[in-house]
Amino acid sequence: MQDRLLAALAPYRSAVDYLEIRLERGESSSVSFRGPRLEAIDRSFDLAGGIRACHRGGWSFVTFSDLGELESRVAEAVSQAKLVGRETTQLAAVEAVEATVRAELGRDPRGVSLGEKRDLLAHYNQLLLEADPRIQTTTAGLTDRFRTVWFVNTTGTVLEQERLDVTGRFGVVARDGGTIRQGFESVHSRSDFGALVGIEARVLSAVERALRQLEATPIKAGRYTAVLDPYLAGVFIHEAFGHLSEADFIYENPRMQQLLQLGKPIAAPQLNVVDDGTVAGQPGTLAYDDEGVPTRRKYLIKDGILTERLHNRETAGKLGEAPTGNARALGGTYPPIVRMTNTGILAGDTPFEEMIAGIDEGVYAVRMLGGQTNGEMFTFAAAEGFMIRGGQIAEPVSDITLTGNVFETLKDIEAIGCDQVWLSGGCGKGGQSPLAVAVGGPHLRIGKVVVGGR
Ligand SMILES: [Zn+2]
Repeated sequence: MQDRLLAALAPYRSAVDYLEIRLERGESSSVSFRGPRLEAIDRSFDLAGGIRACHRGGWSFVTFSDLGELESRVAEAVSQAKLVGRETTQLAAVEAVEATVRAELGRDPRGVSLGEKRDLLAHYNQLLLEADPRIQTTTAGLTDRFRTVWFVNTTGTVLEQERLDVTGRFGVVARDGGTIRQGFESVHSRSDFGALVGIEARVLSAVERALRQLEATPIKAGRYTAVLDPYLAGVFIHEAFGHLSEADFIYENPRMQQLLQLGKPIAAPQLNVVDDGTVAGQPGTLAYDDEGVPTRRKYLIKDGILTERLHNRETAGKLGEAPTGNARALGGTYPPIVRMTNTGILAGDTPFEEMIAGIDEGVYAVRMLGGQTNGEMFTFAAAEGFMIRGGQIAEPVSDITLTGNVFETLKDIEAIGCDQVWLSGGCGKGGQSPLAVAVGGPHLRIGKVVVGGR
């Protein structure tokens, strides 16, 4: 396949400053239930790609879904880029690579029948439906996607990369009188359908979460010392800080360029934040990004100092910084844009018991239900939470929203747990959602957080 793509590229090697062809072949299946009803069950194959050309700083992006039209589409991309280019192309130099990256496979979902997938999911869905009379409805889904991506460009890079994603998602709605609560759980693997087998306890944790929230009382609004669980800490750093680290955003925003000068103390001195595409088996892990640049571990914050940011080749070239391998596309027909991979806070040295021991009255916020950011401001709703009283976890509370300014909050971090974990997540940007990423964190203690109640 690479030869076919290279042949299509060849006539234009010196016609434009840069040209790439990316082709994705996918094989997917999905099964879903809503309440007791089987909502969808399907298996699909797809083949589609995108061509990007850059000339005098102007970009074009053209998609194709039939290899028969490849040559004409490449010609179209080249002529479009020439029409828009008015400046100078600035792409960070990278070494050409030729590589094949195979997916590591445990039990390959392509060898599992749709019937077996349906029966497995029906079993989990039944557990959720029957777990408690207060469960009103459920959503449950299993999806798997195996893809092969071929990539060639005029830099000389020739890649073939495979990846597998296997995901199970489970949700319930619980009701008691007029109170309605939700609970979720998801399981993800990059290599093994077997990761979805025998996970009854994890599936049922969605029910436990919803029921705990039904029994919780709304938190009284105020400023509290807050302890975030690893998942919420990870989502916080992804949403509130990670997106600000994406250099396309910084490049377009003079105020952020000033706030985000490399070398500047930006957080509590014990804080380390990485974006790391090399963590084994995580959703955001990839050998080469969608511009053929190898991924690596970047310290966005090292010992409280702003150290690196996330680049594609163009933002790295324009800002005069090293490329980071953060150009990612949702699929063959999407252009690569600056994205995160696995983004998280590294472990500190404080055990959880010690972290809450000194808190007279505080809140322990667990997982995330939803949230939004606006520049440096954020608001997150925790999925559940508990009061901390006298250094102990106390009664469950609901309606916890955490609001703040990310730069102030990073400096208000008081303690970092020794219990870092990675969890799968989905990221949305520029109409490309959900992109597979991981968020990571240890427990985190933050002083003086504005907590809204009902
Ligand atoms: Zn995101």
